[in-house]
Amino acid sequence: MKIETILAHAGLCTDSTTGAISTPIYQTATFRHPALGVSTGFDYSRTINPTRLALENVIAELESGDRGFAFASGMAAISAVLMMFKSGDHLIVSDDLYGGTYRIFEKSFRQFGLSVTYADTTDPGAVRDAVIPGKTRAVFIETPTNPLMKITDLEEAIEFAHQKGMLAVVDNTFMTPYLQRPLEFGADIVVHSGTKFLGGHNDVLAGAVVARSEELSERIGFIQNATGGVLGPQDSWLLLRGLKTLALRLEKQQENAQAVARWLDRNDKIKKVHYPGLPGHPGHSVQRKQSSGFGAMLSFRVPDASWAERIINRVKVITFAESLGGVESLITYPVRQTHGDIPVEMREKIGVTDDLLRLSVGIEHADDLICDLEQAMAAE
Ligand SMILES: *Cc1c(COP(=O)(O)O)cnc(C)c1O
Repeated sequence: MKIETILAHAGLCTDSTTGAISTPIYQTATFRHPALGVSTGFDYSRTINPTRLALENVIAELESGDRGFAFASGMAAISAVLMMFKSGDHLIVSDDLYGGTYRIFEKSFRQFGLSVTYADTTDPGAVRDAVIPGKTRAVFIETPTNPLMKITDLEEAIEFAHQKGMLAVVDNTFMTPYLQRPLEFGADIVVHSGTKFLGGHNDVLAGAVVARSEELSERIGFIQNATGGVLGPQDSWLLLRGLKTLALRLEKQQENAQAVARWLDRNDKIKKVHYPGLPGHPGHSVQRKQSSGFGAMLSFRVPDASWAERIINRVKVITFAESLGGVESLITYPVRQTHGDIPVEMREKIGVTDDLLRLSVGIEHADDLICDLEQAMAAE
C-alpha cells in the first residue's frame, strides 16, 4: 500500500470486539488474566498497551522497520537509544543538531562514560576523521539539521558507518517517513520527536523509535519496558489521530515553505535563506535524491539581532514559540531558545548566531504568511 493509505488508516478498526473504527483509548494500567498462566497478550501497560501498540505498529510500517516504540517525548526516545551503549563507547553526532540532544549527551550521558564527537556529517571526511578505532559505536545523524538545514547524504553516511562496524541512527523528525525513510537506505534506528510533524497540531508531546532488525527491536523493547518512558494511551491516540492527515498537511506545509523561502530569498534585507528546496542550497540535489520533498522547515539570516527581535515582536499570523511541525506557523530564535544550551563557541562555529531565525511553516494561506513577515520587517 502507498504511504497515504497507511497514514489515513492509522489505527483503523484495531478492536475486533466492537468493530470500533477509531482505536479505543485503553485507559488502563493493567489487564485481567483469564487464569493462572493464561494471558490475553496484555499484562501491564508499561510493557504493552493496545492503543500504544496500534500506534507503534503504524510507525514501524511507515518507516519500513521491524518494530516501533512510542515514548513520552522525543527526548525519552533518544534517551532509550543512548541507553543501548555502555561506558567507554564513543559516538559521532551531527554538529548542528537539536539543542536538547546536545544537552542530553553533554549533561547526562557523558557522566556515564559515553563520549561524543560533533562532526559535520554532511562532510564524509569529517566523519572519517572523528572515528576512534575500537571505540566508535554509532553515527547519530540529523538531516536536515536543526536549524541550518544542512543535508547529509544518508546512503553514503550509512554505508561508511557499516564499513566501520558502527550503527547508523537517524533523527527523522524534520522529514517524517512521508518524505524520507532512512531505514530503506540501511539505517539501523530511526528516532522521532512525534511532538512535531507526526502529531502535527502542537497539542501533544511524543517520541518514537523504529528499529530495523529483530535484534535491535529486542534491545530497544527491553529498554522501553525497563525504563518506562512510554507514551500514555490518550497521547498515543492523539498521535494516531494526527498521523491520518500527515500527507495532506506536509504537502500544504512544504508548498507554503517553498513560497515563503522564495519570497525571503528575493528580499534584499535577508542575508541568507536556508531551505533545501531552493536550487542554490548546497544540499538541494542530495535532498532530491533521498527524499520525496523538501519539508516545511527553514531558517534565514536578518541583518542583525535587532532585526530578529523586531520580527519576533511584530509577527501577528506567525506565532513566536518553540517547537515546529504543527499546522500553525511558528517562528523561533534558536540562539535564545532551542539552542540556548549549546556553548557560544560551538554555536558560532556552526553558524547559529543572533541573526538567525527559524520558521516552521504551517497550513495557513502562504500570502498571509508572507504579508505577515513583510509587515514585521517594514520600517517603523
Ligand atoms: C523537538 C525535537 C526533539 C526532542 O523532542 P521532544 O518531543 O521535544 O522531546 C528531538 N529532535 C528534533 C530534531 C527535534 O526537533
